[in-house]
Amino acid sequence: MVQGRRPLIAGNWKMNVLKAGGLSLAGALAQSIKAQSNPDFDMVVCPPFTLLTKIGDAITASAIMLGAQDCHTLEDGAHTGDISAAMLADLGCRYVIVGHSERRSAYGESNDGVKAKATALHNAGLTAIICIGETEKERDAGRTFDVAKEQLTGSLPAGSTMGNTVIAYEPVWAIGTGRTPTLEEVQDVHALIRAELTNALGQEQAGGTRVLYGGSMNPKNARDLLALADVDGGLIGGASLKAEDFWAIAQSCV
Ligand code: PEP
Repeated sequence: MVQGRRPLIAGNWKMNVLKAGGLSLAGALAQSIKAQSNPDFDMVVCPPFTLLTKIGDAITASAIMLGAQDCHTLEDGAHTGDISAAMLADLGCRYVIVGHSERRSAYGESNDGVKAKATALHNAGLTAIICIGETEKERDAGRTFDVAKEQLTGSLPAGSTMGNTVIAYEPVWAIGTGRTPTLEEVQDVHALIRAELTNALGQEQAGGTRVLYGGSMNPKNARDLLALADVDGGLIGGASLKAEDFWAIAQSCV
């Protein structure tokens, strides 16, 4: 982490948690953050669509911000089952994850599609958390840097700024597996992302844009990962479902 970029700790609850569990998780986090007088990190929780209103209400008096896990590219219309960026903004969301590897692989989401979603979020005044990262096969073929570059440049809308965009580097093979790249590998990919952001957005915007690491971050490895120069927070899946673990990760940036 570098001074000037405020760490962001984001929890991706994925398709987990019903009302009672979500409320108890959010309630515990809200209590912890309220007890810390000046948290020097931002915290976002991204529950499933079904719980956005309830969790939004539960965290409203705390510093925790509400996020969602996906959105449609269009503002409204005949798109059964879809949710627009404007609808998420209307519910009080501030951040939305787009291009998560689970959606890229399960729904064939392309870089162009992810870019269109991020553009929709920008137009609705929301911040896009754009996920990128290589598969194990791509890593084994020595393509980690190429994939990060291709996905970043392909998914990043023109007009992205440090205010409306966050990048999450998530090696697909590290998600939910308990495996992580070495610290040096993480820093190298994040430095490449920073360099590509500089090419695309200029030094000032790139210098202020937060680049998160995601993939089996937990209370044990968080401090070392979050101390890396170009890691500005974490996108956390499994460990975000336990208030104690998610809070311990957030405390690792202090
Ligand atoms: C994720 O899916 O965004 C993620 C980082 O998951 P986990 O922390 O469980 O590896």
